[in-house]
Amino acid sequence: MASKSSNRGVQSNILADDIHLSKEGKTGIQVCGYAVNHAKAQLTPYSFSRREPRDHDIVIEIHYCGICHSDIHQVSDEWGGSTFPMVPGHEIAGVVLQVGTSVTRYKVGDKVGVGCFVDSCRKCGPCLEGLEQYCVGGMSLTYNGVENDGKTPTQGGYSNKIVVDENYVLRIPDNLPLDRAAPLLCAGITVYSPLIHWKAGPGKKVAIIGLGGLGHMGVKIAHALGAEVTILSHSLRKQEEGKKLGADKFYATSDRTTFKELKGYFDLIINTVSVELDWNQYLKLLALDGTMVVVGLPEKKETQIGAFPLVNARRSIAGSAIGGIRETQEMLDFCSKHNIACDIELIPIEKVNEAYERVLKSDVRYRFVIDIKSLECKD
Ligand code: NAP
Ligand code: ZN
Ligand code: ZN
Repeated sequence: MASKSSNRGVQSNILADDIHLSKEGKTGIQVCGYAVNHAKAQLTPYSFSRREPRDHDIVIEIHYCGICHSDIHQVSDEWGGSTFPMVPGHEIAGVVLQVGTSVTRYKVGDKVGVGCFVDSCRKCGPCLEGLEQYCVGGMSLTYNGVENDGKTPTQGGYSNKIVVDENYVLRIPDNLPLDRAAPLLCAGITVYSPLIHWKAGPGKKVAIIGLGGLGHMGVKIAHALGAEVTILSHSLRKQEEGKKLGADKFYATSDRTTFKELKGYFDLIINTVSVELDWNQYLKLLALDGTMVVVGLPEKKETQIGAFPLVNARRSIAGSAIGGIRETQEMLDFCSKHNIACDIELIPIEKVNEAYERVLKSDVRYRFVIDIKSLECKD
């Protein structure tokens, strides 16, 4: 997953001045939200401006934004290269407020979403195939990134409005409530994409490691696809709920007998865990030709993978990043058809710092979503 990076560290102060000037002069779209000003800082109220809509742009009034664990990794600069001030949020759901003169796909009042990226080069092989998340030149992340001009910082969905090119906006089907649909834009697509790519379905044994935001959607989607689903959680604490989400089996990875009992069992394992795991012991749970797909992105470290667990049963290890625009729309339509949405705890924005603490303790069932109406904007 490539993303455009900037040398914004130096630019942050200039940016703050620009914002001040534009606020005074009321150019651009005035936006309020919450930002962190340096790594590991608390989120606090922050006003800024976004570009005036261009011909193909849509102005979205944000109603809800999910809290993804990636927000926490990035505000803490755990992946390196974070730039500040940072308004996190890439699980955005809202309503179209205004459209540019050439917009054809959406109209005012439509229910829409924005996920992890807001642009890409549109010319490279992956972009032309609808795999913009693997854009060779780097996609423009929704926040903690830069626009296609390579320099304008992007800011995310913990804010009341966003301006996005219509080609990077998703339609949220009518039967999905906006608050419970918001986390589909990242958590949902990140598990849907590998489940489809590695053909989860009837007759396939799928394991989901980690029952968090991504994990609980992995269980729901794999179950809807007809696979046999096993949750591998670090304790049995969530066992009853896991079964209600659609899991056939539930095991605690803190229990060493789990690894003996399930040896060589799964066709596909999706690892959603936000911390380092010993991948070798999970690889041994795969059957012949099985694949473990890593989607969890802990703080960057070297991970040692032994040759033997791979060679012994022609096993594979792979990774997967979110999903392209076309596949994200397909996932939303799949969820609509199967009446699947995220299990959420809706919070006012003042509780966002507390929510981060609780995510780190896995103390949420299963996604916090910020009610953006709770933002008190001064203008
Ligand atoms: P989350 O809601 O916090 O879920 C992570 C789960 O990992 C927890 O619920 C917990 O599951 C397990 N876990 C946490 N700490 C653990 C520990 N110390 N030992 C063992 N298991 C532990 O996070 P999320 O939002 O689903 O995101 C998960 C990861 O995916 C993050 O690293 C995020 O950055 C990454 N991500 C990647 C992509 C991508 O495109 N590849 C997209 C989105 C997010 P149990 O309680 O069941 O053990
Ligand atoms: Zn995310
Ligand atoms: Zn591209």
